[in-house]
Amino acid sequence: MDLAAIRHNVRRLLAVASPAQVMAVVKADAYGHGAVPVARAALDAGASWLGVAHISEALALRAAGIEAPLLAWLHTPSSDFAAAVEAGIDLGVSGWELAHVVAAARALERPARVHLKIDTGLGRNGSTAAAWDTFVAEAISYQDEGLLRVVGVFTHLAVADEPLRMETDEQLERFREAVALAEDAGADLEVRHLANTPAILSRPDTHFDLVRAGLALYGLSPFEDQSSAALGLHPAMTLQTRLASCKDVPAGQGVSYGLHHVTDRPTTLGLVPLGYADGVPRIATGGPVLIGGRSYPVVGRIAMDQMVVDLGPEASPATGASLLGAEAVLFGDPAAGAPAVEEWAAAAGTINYEVVTRISGRVPRVYIDSDAAPAGPEAGA
Ligand SMILES: *Cc1c(COP(=O)(O)O)cnc(C)c1O
Repeated sequence: MDLAAIRHNVRRLLAVASPAQVMAVVKADAYGHGAVPVARAALDAGASWLGVAHISEALALRAAGIEAPLLAWLHTPSSDFAAAVEAGIDLGVSGWELAHVVAAARALERPARVHLKIDTGLGRNGSTAAAWDTFVAEAISYQDEGLLRVVGVFTHLAVADEPLRMETDEQLERFREAVALAEDAGADLEVRHLANTPAILSRPDTHFDLVRAGLALYGLSPFEDQSSAALGLHPAMTLQTRLASCKDVPAGQGVSYGLHHVTDRPTTLGLVPLGYADGVPRIATGGPVLIGGRSYPVVGRIAMDQMVVDLGPEASPATGASLLGAEAVLFGDPAAGAPAVEEWAAAAGTINYEVVTRISGRVPRVYIDSDAAPAGPEAGA
């Protein structure tokens, strides 16, 4: 993980979204990149908010000593609202949560900070438009009692990654109406927010006071037809290992479980010690691995711990130059010659978001700072 890339991406987002503030969305362990180091790097570079799904994720950031404004927006009746209020975590609420938040605020004698969520069309969380007046009135009456402050109104977009679709305009219109109603009812809003990465990059009219950036923070593109480089972003994650075996095999050698791949000539196989337990999708046979400046597709099934590439007879250890231990890069920054994470997403029939987020805890996260001179790799959790 290159923290200089994270900082670069934050500065790029600020340049695009300013004067709106930037919330660094670090849910799901910062999409697999490590929530605490990413949060620190993002705040260093000028992000002023952090966003997560769960209160548990927010509490982990507070436990690491991070004091920035922090919003958590996905709860169940078992979520620890009291711990959140006590830790000064802002809560996104869609309806039923208000009662829990108010109970926590009463017990702690400390007002909660809430952001009211409206469902403007995504059909997931958020108050329906029909329930919005009642919901706002209820929140404002608690505000009048001193139990909470309504500091934000927000919603989430459904199709911003397809900038020509009309539904974003409809969502924006409903959002404006919801904000106006809340303000008329007595909400003194610090932040109105709805833009996710695709909206930040393609719809300046969605920026309002605050934008919530996930994917772009990690340097990846939400658009099918635009690369990271085209958007001025630097991918922060490189997934790399070293070959665990390099050996000659005859023609007709079956490879990996099921023997679905069979060598068509005497050749050299390289063993890559990453598999689906590490988060590499099992279905992604054919995905690229860069070894010694050349890209090789994975052949045969991807197993729990390992997968195989056919290096060709020219890589035979008999030539005296074995590739055992050679660096093998699955993906990284294409500007530095690595395969793009999107190639793995295509091989797995999924999106870049999922590939990086699923890299499992077994893979050690190593943090570098390519801006620091001289660069010194620093291992971290
Ligand atoms: C995950 C999430 C985001 C970030 O989305 P990206 O497309 O990764 O920028 C923003 N807002 C909410 C509510 C989210 O759940």
